[in-house]
Amino acid sequence: MFVRCPSCWRLYSSLIPPTCSCGEPLRIAYDYENVDVSRWRNRDKGVWRYRELLPDVNEIISLHEGGTPLLRAKLGEELGLNVFIKDETRNPTGSFRDRLITVAVSYGLPHAENGFVVASNGNAAASLAAYAARAGKEAYTVVPKLIEKCKLTQIVAFGAKIIRYGESVDEGISYAEGLAEGKGLYNITPESNLIGLEGQKTVAFELWEELNPTHVIVPTGSGSNLYSIYKGFRELLEIGVIEEMPKLIAVQTERCSPIASEVLGVEPKAEPTKALALYVKNPLTKELALEAIRETDGTAVLVGEDELDLGERLLAKEGIFAEYASVVIVPALLKLAEEGYFERDDRIALIVTSSGLKGHYSEGREKFTLGGTKLEILKLLSERSMYGYEIWEALEKPLKYQAVYQHLRELESLGLIEESHKKGRRVYYGLTEKGRKFLETLSA
Ligand SMILES: [Zn+2]
Repeated sequence: MFVRCPSCWRLYSSLIPPTCSCGEPLRIAYDYENVDVSRWRNRDKGVWRYRELLPDVNEIISLHEGGTPLLRAKLGEELGLNVFIKDETRNPTGSFRDRLITVAVSYGLPHAENGFVVASNGNAAASLAAYAARAGKEAYTVVPKLIEKCKLTQIVAFGAKIIRYGESVDEGISYAEGLAEGKGLYNITPESNLIGLEGQKTVAFELWEELNPTHVIVPTGSGSNLYSIYKGFRELLEIGVIEEMPKLIAVQTERCSPIASEVLGVEPKAEPTKALALYVKNPLTKELALEAIRETDGTAVLVGEDELDLGERLLAKEGIFAEYASVVIVPALLKLAEEGYFERDDRIALIVTSSGLKGHYSEGREKFTLGGTKLEILKLLSERSMYGYEIWEALEKPLKYQAVYQHLRELESLGLIEESHKKGRRVYYGLTEKGRKFLETLSA
């Protein structure tokens, strides 16, 4: 492994500290001419199969991360395209971050006498908690106030410390740096230390072995995953086993779009999104992500909040339950397919980064908790607006009249119905846009 500064080209013997004396984050390279990829075939699947292109470590802390399944997507058949899903939910803690953490923790172990620290919007924190527990080390996780509950549960279960700081991960990054300095912790936050991206890039090696894709569609928050995948393919190019880079496609939400907006030339937004893991307002790895898109002639796609449920549902039809931040790849694929972006023989890989078991933030799980009566009410209101007593009669059920009102109140609080107008004392209800989409999704 060589460590060098991309700006002043100074060489270093290690990645400690991870930045050049000129302030630039150091980058990692290898002796590409002497890498023999045929050796990989005889090894077990997983991140460490690719050890020639990983940093040297004394001890590997592993939970058998990587080597995740690649599934042919049924959706691709409907679109007339070759679409494959790389199911990263199948990593030990349920997300792609395990690839990052196994390398960062193994590499940092000799420098982590007092423990490790990471700033993360959840997945890297849950993963560090597990690997630090395995290594018998303390872990400090700096996570934002907006975070899915189940990620916190995971962190607590593994016995890591939680510091809630800032509304998004952005604020936590410098906090973690301060904590690392004050407590003498090894900081593995990817924005501060690129070492973990070496592990994350192995998804590119797997995709090459399994599919040799022409396009890779990646949910994008900080952009570190996109850059890792770029670096992986870039190394395969250097070694000479591929001749062309796959096009990398970043997907962000309309609400938070610092990277995609730059590619698409639209006004950037930095608002909270239901896809919480993509809520990174001003990513420090933005330039790296833009480099990955530019150098591969890729593109970016923006996805609306109201498209997340559809994405979740279509992925569920493939047998995969993913978090909102991952499901964005589905509406992105549909948009690009509709625009005629793909050729028939393209090989398209979608990266599903993290499991739906990580939970959703605040928003009700309406589609799974809506009972039959609420659904019937929604269907009635999709035909015309009605008032309470009318709905009660139309339901033809042994229900108390008050129960109907209770259902209406709950549907209103979920944002699925609204008061449409009044006639005298009669309040008429109708479907909201969200309610209409919700019903459409159910019948899709
Ligand atoms: Zn430098």
